[in-house]
Amino acid sequence: MPRSDPRPVFRFAPSPNGWLHLGHARSALINAQMAWETGGRLLLRIEDIDATRCRPEYEAAIYEDLAWLGLDWEQPVRRQSEHMNAYRAALERLEAMGLVYASFESRAEIRAEVAARPGWPSDPDGAPLFPFARAATGEAEGRGGPAAGESQPQLQPPSHSQPHALRLDMAQAVARAGGGLCWREWGVAEPVIADPGAWGDVVLARKETPTSYHLSVVVDDALQGVTHVVRGTDLKAATSVHRLLQRLLDLPEPLYHHHTLVLDAEGRKLSKSIGSESLRELRARGVSAAEVRNMALG
Ligand code: GLU
Repeated sequence: MPRSDPRPVFRFAPSPNGWLHLGHARSALINAQMAWETGGRLLLRIEDIDATRCRPEYEAAIYEDLAWLGLDWEQPVRRQSEHMNAYRAALERLEAMGLVYASFESRAEIRAEVAARPGWPSDPDGAPLFPFARAATGEAEGRGGPAAGESQPQLQPPSHSQPHALRLDMAQAVARAGGGLCWREWGVAEPVIADPGAWGDVVLARKETPTSYHLSVVVDDALQGVTHVVRGTDLKAATSVHRLLQRLLDLPEPLYHHHTLVLDAEGRKLSKSIGSESLRELRARGVSAAEVRNMALG
């Protein structure tokens, strides 16, 4: 599609690591509805960078469930696993700016370090901030970093052939991005102030995958010309990181809409881990697509 196409572009971007549930249906339906109301296009993107959790049968079920719901999307579908070069190129740009560093710590080492620091802050998702400073320079002392004057042991960084994640040096990235970082929410007059520092030194490339959710979503939204990012409020705080990466990589700023989540009877967000009923289970017990649409949007 040529870039000169003036139509708004929406996307639904599920990860094929489980069966879709009503929460996914809500997101897909709201995207479709907004695309229809604005004369826009609807894309489907398969976010399958995590080879350990994504499975072909879940991807096949995404197409089947969405078609059953009555949704239609443009072809071809972008599958993130097929675009690692695009993410690598973005990472290299950030590396060239001096904003990326290798992090060799295991999950267990990170957990132990956090346990040794009572009151250590957490990110907006509730996970502890990365507790180690940037080893190569010791400069990554942004929010949540070591207190001024607290010395960090300058260990010899392990060889780069060892498995490692690549992290964003958040303090330097925020400094480089400059002030006034914010985004617009659909229908909201005031801009939302971005606070990427609240996430600490986020992972940009994981040990087992040369990218991360934050990096690939930002690169793809730009490459696909997405103008409207419509997703659940559980991802609203992550938009701070996305806006930072967009600014650093000179990518366009989409308009955002973070819709409310479908909650279960106990007020919990639906998920496979709490056994939420999937769309295919609903279908198997005779619930119609029209009823599911009502349940999802209700
Ligand atoms: N793949 C993400 C998920 O399934 C959604 C990404 C996004 O909409 O930005 O939660």
